[in-house]
Amino acid sequence: MSKASIKDFKNRLQKIDKELYLALEEEKNYFSFRVNLLKSNKQEVLELLNKEGFFPKEVEFYKNAFILPISDRKTIIKSSAYTQNKIYIQNLSSIFAALKLEAKSSDWVLDLAAAPGGKSLIFSEVAKKVSAVEPNKSRFFRMKRNFKEHGAKNIMSFNKDGRFVYKATGAMFDKVFLDAPCSSEAHIDLKKGITWWSLKRIKRFSKLQKELIISAFEALKPGGEMIYATCTFAPEENEETVDFLLKKYDNAKLIEIEHNLKNAKSALLEFEGKKFDDELKKALRIIPNGAFSGFFLAKIKKN
Ligand code: SAM
Repeated sequence: MSKASIKDFKNRLQKIDKELYLALEEEKNYFSFRVNLLKSNKQEVLELLNKEGFFPKEVEFYKNAFILPISDRKTIIKSSAYTQNKIYIQNLSSIFAALKLEAKSSDWVLDLAAAPGGKSLIFSEVAKKVSAVEPNKSRFFRMKRNFKEHGAKNIMSFNKDGRFVYKATGAMFDKVFLDAPCSSEAHIDLKKGITWWSLKRIKRFSKLQKELIISAFEALKPGGEMIYATCTFAPEENEETVDFLLKKYDNAKLIEIEHNLKNAKSALLEFEGKKFDDELKKALRIIPNGAFSGFFLAKIKKN
């Protein structure tokens, strides 16, 4: 990527949100994990970790998620809690978003873009059953292995393209999570430079996301709820995709996402002269901070 386009990316971040650029430049000092409730519990995990010299700090929004200094990232994978699959290393933004689906014991959850399966595993802990869809073959098989190793017994996996799932299923899921394939801007390391960022790529993803969000919404039962999420900052892949859904379906409404996160703010209502539905103020942008990476999430109800 030429220097000019790195500059373009930085300029764009400033336009989206001035805080973003600074947040992305910050050193990442922590990583996070959660207790795998399918195999263990908080007390057992803490005892195992403490015995081996790890002293994680519980996060505020979930009693089974913890942070550790980044210096422990290499050694934790040798710990018995990790090798016995009793913990799952996962970004706090992902854990937060998956919990906000609020899956219940009677729910059938569809995870429409599921590999490597970290969020399906969270749903699996509480839901009746989970259908996990992933079109990429190697990611699909890795995901299946992941489910098995982590003790999930109520997840069915499908090697399918999410765009067409609703045509086969109809409106039958209580909850749907769409963790959409995206331009992953939140994972860009500004110091390392980037080779793949471009507006053209963003537009390509935006088109795919619009097809996927239709499939996700169509697969929901009336009265059901879904989350649309990405790990990118581009409004074309976030607010614009949700705005598109709201315009297309009268029965799609956004739901307020309750939280106490200091690093989350309302989504944009306008970008580069394009206005988005006022409802979008209920969607959240998570600003990278500590073990939270950049994230966007909108909770949608089908009336
Ligand atoms: N939800 C996952 C988790 O938490 O472990 C991460 C999902 S990742 C952000 C997006 C996934 O969407 C990738 O595995 C990618 O292969 C998949 N994907 C790409 N195109 C897709 C499509 N047309 N339908 C469904 N999934 C797709």
